[in-house]
Amino acid sequence: MTTPDDHAFLRQAIALAAKARAGGDPPFGSLLAGPDGTVLAEEHNTTLTDKDITAHPELKLARWAARELDAATAAGTTMYTSCEPCGMCQAVIQWAGLRRVVYALSNDQLLDIRPGSGRPPVPQHGPALLDEVRAVVEGYYR
Ligand SMILES: [Zn+2]
Repeated sequence: MTTPDDHAFLRQAIALAAKARAGGDPPFGSLLAGPDGTVLAEEHNTTLTDKDITAHPELKLARWAARELDAATAAGTTMYTSCEPCGMCQAVIQWAGLRRVVYALSNDQLLDIRPGSGRPPVPQHGPALLDEVRAVVEGYYR
């Protein structure tokens, strides 16, 4: 459920996506709106200009929030983003403790516009060497 206020912030995020595209980067933009509805920070994708595959705006903003906001402010902050966050960004948003995410374009809709943009999952193998790794981890979380 989105509101007219949400749509106003989404339009700002879409404008940031257009800014990214105009600067030669993939067309994605995001912002954070604090508990009082003011814009706290905004970002756009810079994966090409920074030569950094992780330079998604959602990731940059979630890292900023974790660094700069206290937990209560983060818990009242909404991320507005031109496209649904990818799996990498969703995880970092969760770690940052944000209240919610509102997006314009879903990942499925993005794939319709840009077919073949997904990547196959990398095989993962484990667990292994449990006794050795437990000796390092046990006792840390008290
Ligand atoms: Zn992402």
